Amino acid sequence: MPVCCALDEDAVNHKTITKEVRKAYRKYDEQASNWIEQYTAEGGRIYCQAGCFKCCDMPIRISWAEALTISESLTDEQFTKIQRHANKVWVNAHKSKNSDEYAENHRKFVGFCPLLDKTSGGCTLYGDRPIRCRDTYSGMPAHFCGAGALSKLSSSELRQYQRTVRSAEVFDGYSHYIAPLEDLSLPAWNRFSLLMKREMGLEVWGDFWYLVTMTRNPDFVEALTLKNRRKVIQKLQELGLYHEEIVQLD
Ligand code: SF4
Ligand code: SF4
Repeated sequence: MPVCCALDEDAVNHKTITKEVRKAYRKYDEQASNWIEQYTAEGGRIYCQAGCFKCCDMPIRISWAEALTISESLTDEQFTKIQRHANKVWVNAHKSKNSDEYAENHRKFVGFCPLLDKTSGGCTLYGDRPIRCRDTYSGMPAHFCGAGALSKLSSSELRQYQRTVRSAEVFDGYSHYIAPLEDLSLPAWNRFSLLMKREMGLEVWGDFWYLVTMTRNPDFVEALTLKNRRKVIQKLQELGLYHEEIVQLD
């Protein structure tokens, strides 16, 4: 996976994009905090807490708008770690036969986000972490969030889990993550979509670590200036920088 190291400041208006992304992050955090305050005051429980990180090995999808924002905040050392992680993501995308296998193998073989400080359990990019990291809250204990957690349950424990996520209003019926807190991030996702269309002429979504790495790859950045989805994909394929599992264009 060829990688280089200079943001193309001319291709898009970075300042406008990163400012709007951070504004959307602030708005989400404020609304989530209000929701949590009311939920806990009424007796609800959220299990996420400082130092808890079992969820930080999940694949994470972000927008190019977020990738630019995150890239802007990284130290050289953090960027190098992200590059290495992106290489593993690239290999996993090529080895996996389908999306389910890709997601499962991400947790098994790609592993924890390199921005995680495993000693403290804290996120070293907390202020600029992606919206997906922000809107993931667990309504059940953290061991349910670990890789393969459900496959380790006995059949009766699994039935109990399924009953709980189906019956409690706060869940979406399938998982123990708190649905209203995910729903609150929808305006941010829509905002990023409109922002990319307005500033870049197309939407670019994909893997967190791969897209962040590509913000500093001049060939990738230049390909996006073609603006036409088909042409961009063709160019990225020629450059050997495209895999549909980790880059999606609209
Ligand atoms: S989602 Fe799960 S693993 Fe992540 S912080 Fe919350 S409880 Fe911990
Ligand atoms: S950015 Fe932070 S919160 Fe998100 S996966 Fe990485 S370490 Fe975890």
